[in-house]
This record gives sequence, C-alpha cells and structure tokens, in this order.
Amino acid sequence: MTIHLYNTLAREKQVFTPIDPKNVRMYVCGPTVYDYAHIGNARPVVAFDVLYRLLRHVYGADHVTYARNITDIDDKIMAASVETGESIASITNRTTGWYHDDMAALGAMSPNHEPRATSFVPQMVKLIEQLIAKGHAYAAEGHVLFNVPSMVDYGGLSGRSLDDMIAGARVEVAPYKKHPADFVLWKPSDAGQPGWPSPWGQGRPGWHIECSAMAGDLLGQVFDIHAGGIDLIFPHHENEIAQSRCAHGTPVMANYWLHNGFVQVNGQKMSKSLGNFFTVHELLEEGMRGEAMRLALLSAHYRQPIDITRDGIKEAKAQLDRFYGALAKVGEVEVEPQVPDTILAALADDLNTPLAVSELHELVTELNKATNPAKKAEAKAAVLGAARLLGLLWQDPVTWLQQDDGGKGRSAAEIEQLIADRIAARKAKNFAEADRIRDMLASEGIALEDSPSGTSWKRS
Ligand SMILES: [Zn+2]
Repeated sequence: MTIHLYNTLAREKQVFTPIDPKNVRMYVCGPTVYDYAHIGNARPVVAFDVLYRLLRHVYGADHVTYARNITDIDDKIMAASVETGESIASITNRTTGWYHDDMAALGAMSPNHEPRATSFVPQMVKLIEQLIAKGHAYAAEGHVLFNVPSMVDYGGLSGRSLDDMIAGARVEVAPYKKHPADFVLWKPSDAGQPGWPSPWGQGRPGWHIECSAMAGDLLGQVFDIHAGGIDLIFPHHENEIAQSRCAHGTPVMANYWLHNGFVQVNGQKMSKSLGNFFTVHELLEEGMRGEAMRLALLSAHYRQPIDITRDGIKEAKAQLDRFYGALAKVGEVEVEPQVPDTILAALADDLNTPLAVSELHELVTELNKATNPAKKAEAKAAVLGAARLLGLLWQDPVTWLQQDDGGKGRSAAEIEQLIADRIAARKAKNFAEADRIRDMLASEGIALEDSPSGTSWKRS
C-alpha cells in the first residue's frame, strides 16, 4: 500500500516513505490551553487522527509514534491568571482536562506522547544554547533572539523571502533586535510572571522553541511528518524549522509537512479573535453528538476550508443514524472488521475522507441489502473496517438509536425562534398555540420564564 501525502514543503503530493517503517514518527502542534477548544481547533485533531489510524493500519499499531503537545506557557494563560487570581497550573490542568474530554467525544485517539511545555524547559534552554554556540542566536537585554539572516534558506516552507517579510511589516520592531525579522527564543519574566532560571536570567521560552525542543526530544532531530493548521505555516512552522535545522545541522526537520484548512463561518475563518466561534463543549451541551461533529469535519478534504454549522452537524447525525440503523438491523453477527480496498485507496490518496465517507455509504447499502448470513457477516465486517479507519461507528448501535437527544437536541437559535413564535401566538390571542409551545419545551426540559422585560429560558 502506497500512501500519498500533499507536502507543503515540496508543494506537491508525494509518495510517503518513512525514515524507519518500524517507527513512523508524527508531530502535530497541539492547543494552547487557556479556554475551551472551538471546532476549528478540533479540525487538525480529527484530520490527523485519521492519518494516525491509517499509518497504524499500514505499518502496524506498534510502529507509529504520534506526539501532540500542550502549550501551557503562554501570555494569554498568564493574563487569565492575573485577571482571575487562579494559579497557572490550576488553569492549565482544568483546561487540559476539558480538551481531553472534548477530543475523546470526537473519537480522537490519544497520541503516544502529549508533552507539556512546562516539562521541557531544560531541553529548550539547551537548544537555545546550541543556537547561540553556532552563531544563529544572540542574547540581548534578557532576551535571546534567533538571527534570521544567519540562515541562508530561511523561508522555504512558506515561500517568503526576508524582503517580503520586512515589506509586509509583519515583524515586531524592538531596539534589542539585530534584524527586524529576528524572533524571540527566550524572554525575561518579571517577579509576578512565571519564569525559569536560565543563563540569560529568569525568563520563559518563546512559543516556537517549545515545539522544536519537544519534537526533537521525543521524535529525534529528523522525523517523518509534522502537521498542524494552515495558519501555523508562518511564522510558527517556519521558525520551528529554522531553530531545529540550525541547532542540529540537518537539511530538514521533518520530511513531510501537512496543513489542514480553516473551519469557516459564512466564508470567514472561525477564530476567537473574530468572536464567530462555537466550542465543542457548547455543542455537546446542546445535545449534539461528538461523532456527528467528527463526520461533519471529515465531510470535506482536510486541505480545503470547511463551513461547519449546526445544521451541517445535524445532517451528519442523520447519516450516522442510517449507518447505525443498518448495524442494528443486522444484529449480533460476530465479525472481525476488514478494511475494504476502496476505503484504503481513498485515505491513502492524501486522506480523501469525503470519498471514503461516500464509500462507507455504499458499504452500508450493501449491508442493508444482504440477505443470507454469510453476506451479512461480510458486509458488516467491511462497514466496521471502514468505520474503524475513519474513527466512526464505535458505539453500540442500539444505544445510539435509543439515546434521547431530548431538550438538549434543540439549539439556542431554535429555542429563541419558538419563543418568538409563542409571543406572536399570544399577540394573535392564540393562547392554545402559545401553551402548546411552552408545554412542548417543558417536556424537553426547557423552562420559560416570562417577565416584563421579555421571556428567558433555561435547561433544567
Ligand atoms: Zn508547534
């Protein structure tokens, strides 16, 4: 089985050849844990979970090492701590727990390593010392900076020249910088800020050096796959490459660089800063199922942008109802899941999940049509094999179908609409209709409270 992956570094789809097929190594940039993850943050987790499953299938489960970091040193976390008085460790332990719960709800397997930046500061300091010794970094006013002009082929991943970067004015000007494009490896911490001792004084690492140090320590100086969201290409991944290559004197940091497209809302990137996001947690709270979110995320190719809406997740849930319905109908037939060649071919072609999902629909149609026991077993094995690679259909079919979405199944927008309908009914003196809406919501555990300023609602 030949896997093809689109490599951002080469700007083309390439045959994937691991350095060591007995130990295929993959690093995915993980979250900065300061709040709930939004569904845009979940996309790389789900997309590269499918890659992890594919690699395990092809090379053997024991021959793949997957590391995904937790960034728990960050100025946003620090600011939250100052604002609320809660300790940084307490904040990051809580938010890491949320992250684990939400990603598990999406059916994402845990990586083999989940390094936290706070546990790798000595490795970061060592890497910075190597960069200084080799003339790629310098200390100035408590900071250490990477000297960008010291690397002749800086910018290879993003295709940006040094001149572009300066012209684009995306660089922060600071008096201690030798060159405007130089970036921070280490910065000083005040008394109230988290800091670690270093040869340059009490301070903390920059974000980029965190990943270089953790990836190097866990996966080696050169490894197979480095992945993350498309917004990480520049500067984060570009700077990771600069740091790791210059410290180790290697021609590459990782051989294949994979990037997933944005999750969008009405064509605009979903992000905390734009305020147009919804979190996995709130969707789960509304009664949406994690598996439906996963299927919605897999319905577009990972490199393409995707619009995720509540209606889209409901549509994915309806597809899962069909899949689980077929499995429930066939009943207790003991089978060993078999991955069909069509599914393997789709995923081996740069993770073509939309094609794999449409193949899964075909397999479910076959299962529905199967009449004799042998055909049923064969069709069920194919459905389960396909689903396993996609990370779907891991729940008990009967439980899935019986599970009551209840009042939680209604989105806030739907409830608001029903409240508006009820107000309109009362204005029209159609009190029977108004009461019907109130009683229906009450039966779903949604209580309405009327007050002079309007109607509010809450879930019981
Ligand atoms: Zn990273």
